[in-house]
Amino acid sequence: MGQGRAVAYRWEELIPDNTAHNLAGCLERLRWIFWGYKTGGILDWEYSPPKCDEEASAPTAAQTVEKLSRICSELTGCTRCRLHSGRTNLVFGEGSAKSRLVFVGEGPGFDEDRQGRPFVGRAGKLLDKMILAIGFEREEVYICNVVKCRPPENRTPQPDETATCSPFLFRQIEALSPRVICALGLSAAQTLLGLTRPISQLRGTVQSWRGIPLICTYHPAYLLRSPSQKAAAWQDLKQVIKLLGS
Ligand code: URA
Repeated sequence: MGQGRAVAYRWEELIPDNTAHNLAGCLERLRWIFWGYKTGGILDWEYSPPKCDEEASAPTAAQTVEKLSRICSELTGCTRCRLHSGRTNLVFGEGSAKSRLVFVGEGPGFDEDRQGRPFVGRAGKLLDKMILAIGFEREEVYICNVVKCRPPENRTPQPDETATCSPFLFRQIEALSPRVICALGLSAAQTLLGLTRPISQLRGTVQSWRGIPLICTYHPAYLLRSPSQKAAAWQDLKQVIKLLGS
């Protein structure tokens, strides 16, 4: 800030939620520390950068794996909602415990139910391509769903099914503590945001799930039916890349 010029930033526009308040507080404290140095005639000082909060508090991969296994074991043999009755396999989710990016879909389809893995059917093949397009291998990200059991005939999960299963999704995301979440389709977007707005209103903006930036985009199954929307989905993915790099 040469020549004593003050620069005013609107933190809320740059950084989500309470991170902005924390940063603003830190900067205010720094301002006083530097003012103290200046008035005390101190012109130089040793500086050893502290570990930033994120590094210091980031869970290790082993801790994340342990938390995820605990959540998964709580779901073993789950009969909490009616979806269990048609299930072949519960589909918990898979990917890297160190992933900075989590994709959330709606719920398992036929192939996922058979294999017990998320996004392994036709929509999954497209998701794999989307992941590659943003510079990752599938194994480097984490993929999961709002509901862990296949809804009959792949129907949209009903509100009580979502309400029963979503706490496990939320705990999964908290355990992973990613830099960015990408919601695939309306069910994931609405569940994470607790809103009932259409996807067209949620796309193109950076939303937030408990302080983690959240990008909502079209579900790959929808993109298979409406390939003309792939360009819009690519815009969303570019925003994901930008947030991961920031
Ligand atoms: N659709 C989803 O939402 N999730 C899957 O795992 C597969 C298809």
